[in-house]
Amino acid sequence: MDNIIKIENLTFEYLRDEDQMNLKAIEDVSLEIERGSFTAIIGKNGSGKSTLAKNLNGLLLPTEGVVYVGGFDTRDDKHIWDVRQTAGMVFQNPDNQLVSAIVEDDVAFGPENLGIDPAEIRRRVDKALEDVNMGKYKKKAPHLLSGGQKQRVAIAGVVAMKPQCIIFDEPTAMLDPRGRDEIMAIIDELHEEGITVILITHFMEEAVRADRVIIMHEGKILMDGTPAEVYAQEELLRSANLTIPLMVEVAAKLRQQGIDVPQGIITEEKMVEFICQYK
Ligand code: ADP
Repeated sequence: MDNIIKIENLTFEYLRDEDQMNLKAIEDVSLEIERGSFTAIIGKNGSGKSTLAKNLNGLLLPTEGVVYVGGFDTRDDKHIWDVRQTAGMVFQNPDNQLVSAIVEDDVAFGPENLGIDPAEIRRRVDKALEDVNMGKYKKKAPHLLSGGQKQRVAIAGVVAMKPQCIIFDEPTAMLDPRGRDEIMAIIDELHEEGITVILITHFMEEAVRADRVIIMHEGKILMDGTPAEVYAQEELLRSANLTIPLMVEVAAKLRQQGIDVPQGIITEEKMVEFICQYK
């Protein structure tokens, strides 16, 4: 397997005041992410998802263990830009990610930091803005845009750095349903183009489109499998205080009524397909 990210026994502690114990946000996690895959990470608040994400592009460094990104050890100072260029990050609040007064300058910010030639930067900025359907806003001021549009500009800024992997930390949490759908469509397209996607999300319907779902619980990995495998484990999901996808609940109720719904039906489309067999 060709892994873009390899985590070996990662423990991460936040330092606290002298009289308090440090807070262990990640405890002995090992994980490999295959190049080109789409992984969703879910878990209740405080389970360590964001801390894990920030360890994947060197924003945080391991207390113990090693994180390799594109083969580079994130603790290796010489390669911090290689790490950041390999794995870009998109955060929840687009306002915290936009730094310039004009959209195109904002998208150019990352590539400029990488010391890329200006003509190449211009090409990348135009292409990245087209990729997120924001080409016609390139001369606009970011503060005039909607939340979803700002998030798309933030994604363009990461795309312009040509990362092999993008980590999205709850990118749709502050958006309305339409903005959310647009961001998810862009994430799907980036994945289809070959970018490795890691998506931290609260939304079941976003997690079910991934190839792999990882559930974090109290700083550890509670489950790791395909969406169908993970969402079939109703009891475990409940024990981690996670909501059960509606179609999993419906399937369980149908089974109670004696209807033999196969395991693995977790989306509306699959449920409709199943029911239509009886037409
Ligand atoms: P999640 O993304 O799943 O909500 P986090 O990774 O943000 O979880 O948090 C994991 C734990 O680390 C929580 O107990 C949280 O309170 C703590 N934590 C997160 N960020 C900090 C920080 N900057 N300083 C101290 N503790 C933090």
